[in-house]
Amino acid sequence: MTVIYVDNNATTKVAPEVLEAMMPYFSDYYGNPSSMHSFGGNVAGAIKTARENIARLIGANPAEIVFTSCGTESDGTAIRAAIESYPDKRHIVTSRVEHPAIKNLYETLSKKGYRTTFVPVDGEGRLDVDYLYDSLSEDTAIVSLMWGNNETGVIFPIEEISLEVKSRGILFHTDAVQAVGKIPLNISESGVDMLSISGHKFHAPKGIGALYIRKGTKFSPFMIGGHQEDGRRGGTENTAAIIGLGKAAELASENLKTDGYGRVSRLRDKLEHALLAKVPNAMVNGDTTSRLPNTTSIAFEYVEGEAILLMMNEHGICASSGSACTSGSLEPSHVLRAMGVPFTAAHGSIRFSLSRYNTEDEIDAIIETLPPIIERLRELSPFWKQAMGS
Ligand code: PLP
Repeated sequence: MTVIYVDNNATTKVAPEVLEAMMPYFSDYYGNPSSMHSFGGNVAGAIKTARENIARLIGANPAEIVFTSCGTESDGTAIRAAIESYPDKRHIVTSRVEHPAIKNLYETLSKKGYRTTFVPVDGEGRLDVDYLYDSLSEDTAIVSLMWGNNETGVIFPIEEISLEVKSRGILFHTDAVQAVGKIPLNISESGVDMLSISGHKFHAPKGIGALYIRKGTKFSPFMIGGHQEDGRRGGTENTAAIIGLGKAAELASENLKTDGYGRVSRLRDKLEHALLAKVPNAMVNGDTTSRLPNTTSIAFEYVEGEAILLMMNEHGICASSGSACTSGSLEPSHVLRAMGVPFTAAHGSIRFSLSRYNTEDEIDAIIETLPPIIERLRELSPFWKQAMGS
């Protein structure tokens, strides 16, 4: 059975060009980039190019990029650096719809005595910006807000908010794991002090990420060790993965320039419109006017999301009912709950996240396959029967 993969916010296929660029660094070029000899020095040169490619993708300076092991490490490093750099400040701020990499860290820090503010969102997943600004004080060490939501795709106006937060002398971090490579970012003009990147969300391998740290930002490393990454992250570099991340960044820059995501968003819109037209009691979760181009979260009322996923799986269709880190639990996602999505809709919500490798034929196949699945499940659903008065 062929696989139709529309779960790209969970992870993406490694681009063939990325794999090709990485391979020699497992075999021929295995030198340590910190070595004095040129065998290692050549590897250091390739890492330099990768750093430049990442910097270009987000409008940063190469010296501001630190390689990490993943988005989660980048997020954790940023938050811990802020609270260590400002030990007298005991207040930290984020939103109610963050990925567990931030959400669970904030909850842990809250148990350790930090005062935490989780800023609410409205029914469309838009941030309550006034609530955010009202919460800030001299005691606030950091504000961390995601750029694009992994479940709904809703984009927060990070440039604007970061400038306001910065004008109050407070550090600003953004988890841009889902935004990098999908929408054009130029952080040089923003107030962003730190920004998290994860390779496997844009066709680099898993286990590689980066943290942008604006020049002049107070910082203390999470991984203390050797002098790698200018003393900002100890540990011998994951060379091949870094080369892969650099190549993925180069491809993403080209793709953004040539409107590659225009095609992806047209496919996403086709899927969304067709499913809404064919399936009664279906609606999109979140603000559709400011959204990642590859993502749609659709609620199919009165059916169980897990059952939809299992039946789609039988047809080779891979989607998701929440973030990869919360699926496996039958609780509706904290993101949809924060948006006030009714229980009956939250439970039947499916996230489709596309990539440049998806084809129109695949989208047509989902449009054909899914409506009868929903119909069959509703025939079995007592909630649906009750709602329809039958
Ligand atoms: N932040 C967001 C918004 C994500 O979607 C993810 C992964 O799903 C992460 C952070 C964690 O990234 P990683 O899997 O590289 O640790």
